[in-house]
Amino acid sequence: MIPVTKSYLPDREKLSRYIDGIYSRQWLTNHGPLVRELTQRLEEYLGVENLLLVANGTLALQVAYRALGLGGGKSRVAAITTPFSFVATTSSLKWEGIEPIFSDIDPHSWCLDPKQVERNLSEGVRALVPVHVFGNACDIEALELIAANHGLSLIFDGAHAFGVKYRGGSLLRHGDATTLSFHATKLFHTIEGGGIIFRRKEQLERARRIINFGMSTIGEIDDLGINAKMSEFQAAMGLCILDDIDEIMEKRAEIWHNYHSKLNGLVKFQLINENCTKNYSYFPVVFESEAVLLRVKSFLEEQDIYARRYFYPSLDELAYTTPCVINENSKFISKRVLCLPLYPGMSIEDVQKVTDIIYWGLE
Ligand SMILES: *Cc1c(COP(=O)(O)O)cnc(C)c1O
Repeated sequence: MIPVTKSYLPDREKLSRYIDGIYSRQWLTNHGPLVRELTQRLEEYLGVENLLLVANGTLALQVAYRALGLGGGKSRVAAITTPFSFVATTSSLKWEGIEPIFSDIDPHSWCLDPKQVERNLSEGVRALVPVHVFGNACDIEALELIAANHGLSLIFDGAHAFGVKYRGGSLLRHGDATTLSFHATKLFHTIEGGGIIFRRKEQLERARRIINFGMSTIGEIDDLGINAKMSEFQAAMGLCILDDIDEIMEKRAEIWHNYHSKLNGLVKFQLINENCTKNYSYFPVVFESEAVLLRVKSFLEEQDIYARRYFYPSLDELAYTTPCVINENSKFISKRVLCLPLYPGMSIEDVQKVTDIIYWGLE
């Protein structure tokens, strides 16, 4: 069986040593020493400041909105976001009572198209929530300009963008906040987990209280909060995996380049922003029609190979969202995109097997 992804597991003995430490301290959660160590090491590795680790990537989004003063109020609040993403980008907004207004993606980069964003601005829009989809940098400068000109908060969903550099610095330090997911299926993971990188220290401090029931360090409840803390066991997993991250990325890069050379000219690829680096976390391909995609997918499944329709459907088609403008590009890509199996430990023979079946499906 070749799955679409496989969670990376670090050396068992190394993990045991961290767990021994947890046993001897008997400190299991609530901003413990391993969570602090992981925070510091991630800030160094990623080249960012003001990182807050949280329980998962969905809560990272929800807490970021709250820390920036969005949601939870009485007046109608809306945010412009992309219909081409994982459902959590949109469901997190809905859950916080913020209406997602979808704006179409660029047909090549698959990220929010700033020209469309400007057209969709309306009263009640207080924020932009773009996604660096599959790790590809959004049009940062254009989005920052729109946010500044219209007084909007800018929250990037960076769940796919771990380790990506933009113009020489971290991609993750842009906007008022950028969120990360450390779910088991992501490039870097803590089993379940996530993070928020804030531009401003005050917002980090507010979010730190929000994730602990709204309590201050002296135990006073001065804000509405939730429980979104990362535990010591999650941090232990993260510390082990962070040691191996460069090797993980190298292995992924080899598979990525192999797919790329074998499929070049036969399918369409995402156009990568020329100012950003790749982290090789996904290998999405676009077929000429949904019928071809379905044929290739079923040929793969007959051979016990599981590619995934990611992201499908376009989020403006969900029952709980309001259909608004027609997001042609998002619908077009969603119907035709397939993510191919890619994980460290996948052999080049398996890549060959996948691409051979794709050749056959394209005939
Ligand atoms: C995975 C993902 C999330 C949610 O992260 P979890 O840690 O699974 O809650 C949010 N946005 C995007 C784009 C994702 O891929």
